[in-house]
Amino acid sequence: MTAGTVLVLNSGSSSIKFQLIDPETADAPAHGLIERIGEPDGRIIFHHTTGTEEHLGEIPDHRTGLRKVLEMLEGLGRPLEEVGIVAVGHRLVHGGDRFYKPTLIDDSVVQAVSDLSVLAPLHNPANVIGMEVAREELPDVPHVGVFDTAFFHSLPPAAATYAIDRDIARENGIRRYGFHGTSHEYVSNRAAAFLRRDYGELNQVVLHLGNGASASAIAGGRPLDTSMGLTPLEGLVMGTRSGDIDPGVLMHLNRAAGMDVDEIDRLLNRGSGLKGLSGVNDFRALLALIADGDADAKLAYDVYVHRLKKYIGAYLAILGGIDTIVFTGGVGENNIDVRRDSLAGMERLGIVVDPERNEASGGGERRISADDSQVEVLVIPTDEELAIARAAVAFA
Ligand code: ADP
Repeated sequence: MTAGTVLVLNSGSSSIKFQLIDPETADAPAHGLIERIGEPDGRIIFHHTTGTEEHLGEIPDHRTGLRKVLEMLEGLGRPLEEVGIVAVGHRLVHGGDRFYKPTLIDDSVVQAVSDLSVLAPLHNPANVIGMEVAREELPDVPHVGVFDTAFFHSLPPAAATYAIDRDIARENGIRRYGFHGTSHEYVSNRAAAFLRRDYGELNQVVLHLGNGASASAIAGGRPLDTSMGLTPLEGLVMGTRSGDIDPGVLMHLNRAAGMDVDEIDRLLNRGSGLKGLSGVNDFRALLALIADGDADAKLAYDVYVHRLKKYIGAYLAILGGIDTIVFTGGVGENNIDVRRDSLAGMERLGIVVDPERNEASGGGERRISADDSQVEVLVIPTDEELAIARAAVAFA
């Protein structure tokens, strides 16, 4: 390991992703994932330079999980102080109006992120635990928060403003914040580099399709719109989240079905999207159901793709023409069908996917559009950890 390693932590609602990474070379001597925290069948995958370890068994909470990560890093043969961690970068979800650039974490930042949990109940509490435990375990290096909302802080007012009473909106911090910003910024920069074009002159639509999913319209490196809003619930259909829905549905559920606000919250955040429609939230499981002829799964897929198309069309209009469409995230990077179907029938708009390129195996940055497509359609694997490591090392 080199002297300039950054530990990047992404503490999610039921998982922790971790990576030791050299921000200059992008070498990652160790990385891994703890998943299904709080469930009986927890799992840790730990990749390091000499191999991969898998541990199965219950991981009761984030604190236990994070301590286990640090133990495993020490198990590589050297105490943590000697591993050369110069900073810890934390992926933080909701920065509200307060945080819009990488921020050195102190007690007041932890408290502020905790206070913002009301806006991101699935994410900010897990982020807070991640910061607390990591600061206890690694007290001598800077801890830096990189916020998912930061890139979209400069959204134009017309895109950031909800059409509700202006005083109520102002008093309650209600605006479109946008999320996955680190990813949208990273892949749009990589897309420009891939095309050998100036970032400042490209109109891009970026589709980040993972468990959470979001779209953005980026003109010359500046976001003009994005699909997630006050919370990461708005926009595209996601694994367990509904995305866009008539707000009247919420009132109806309350009045007609007697559901209270917490029940509606749980329904829309955890029991909707692909899971609500088909029973499964993982895209690979959805595809398996479709292959078995499951009609609900097929409808879930169709709803997912239809919503995606709507956003692509809307952003095409907002940008007044686009140079590139970029797919990223677990689904965007791997799923042939979603890429094909979400762009099907757009030939007259200058968007033509090449079937062979789309279906070619192998990862990495690649073009999947046909040579005669006016719009370059790209697959760019996201690397939020590298982007976070680069931001964090600036404080070391
Ligand atoms: P997160 O939002 O948690 O970072 P990811 O970006 O890792 O999520 O994406 C997870 C999603 O990607 C899951 O729905 C998973 O099924 C899907 N996915 C991952 N690999 C593949 C694949 N090879 N084919 C289809 N879907 C995939």
